[in-house]
Amino acid sequence: MRDILARANRGVLRDFASSRVLVAFDYDGTLAPIVADPARAAMRARTRALLGRVARLYPVIVVSGRARADVEQRVAGVPLGEVVGNHGLEPWHGGRRAAGAVRRWLPVLAHGLAGLRGVVVEDKIFSVAVHYRRARAKPQARAAILAASAALDDARLIGGRQVVNLVPRGAPHKGLAVERLRARCSCDSALYVGDDETDEDVFALARAGRLLAIRVGARRGSAAAYFVKSQRAVDALLRVLIDERSPTGRPRRP
Ligand SMILES: [Mg+2]
Repeated sequence: MRDILARANRGVLRDFASSRVLVAFDYDGTLAPIVADPARAAMRARTRALLGRVARLYPVIVVSGRARADVEQRVAGVPLGEVVGNHGLEPWHGGRRAAGAVRRWLPVLAHGLAGLRGVVVEDKIFSVAVHYRRARAKPQARAAILAASAALDDARLIGGRQVVNLVPRGAPHKGLAVERLRARCSCDSALYVGDDETDEDVFALARAGRLLAIRVGARRGSAAAYFVKSQRAVDALLRVLIDERSPTGRPRRP
């Protein structure tokens, strides 16, 4: 993996920025720093201002594992082309099948995880996130969640940062959502920034010249070709995107 903000790679960003490119971001850990209580995750004021400017220069979407309504309120005021929730299910596939699966899973999980302290089951209507950030013994908590999840019918498990995501098997993932929206805006390419396992569904789409896949933090085994060093460095990436399309060609500060 290479640092997309390294001087040597500026040409790569420039090529994408000068094409008809859809710019897409994950939310948690990408636009917003990871915090102990996911309910409190918020963008820094600087990030919000920069994202707003990027969204006036490019078609921009946010693709999150959170429920769509949840993400929408966190990015309110930013002129986004679309907000995708539930790992790619919403807005198109948040239907009866997904909701029915989740309703079947919840009591099974409640039973299987009863008495496990620090484990929180988040019902997102069309998918489930089982958080173990607050569990003392995290490997044991994760093992218990996997064991309980094995009893679920029709579930796809996707790992994450101290969370196990359960989505209906065969449901569209983040990669399909990005492809769909790229086609909808008649864009030739997409730039995607994400930090976690569900983002690998997007990174895996990478085809030469069509998708610029950028991971927050370098990691061996990621399908992303590029990285930014940290969540904070996403601000610098936003700034480069703005500079590439500024009419004067000179950096302007928000
Ligand atoms: Mg994330």
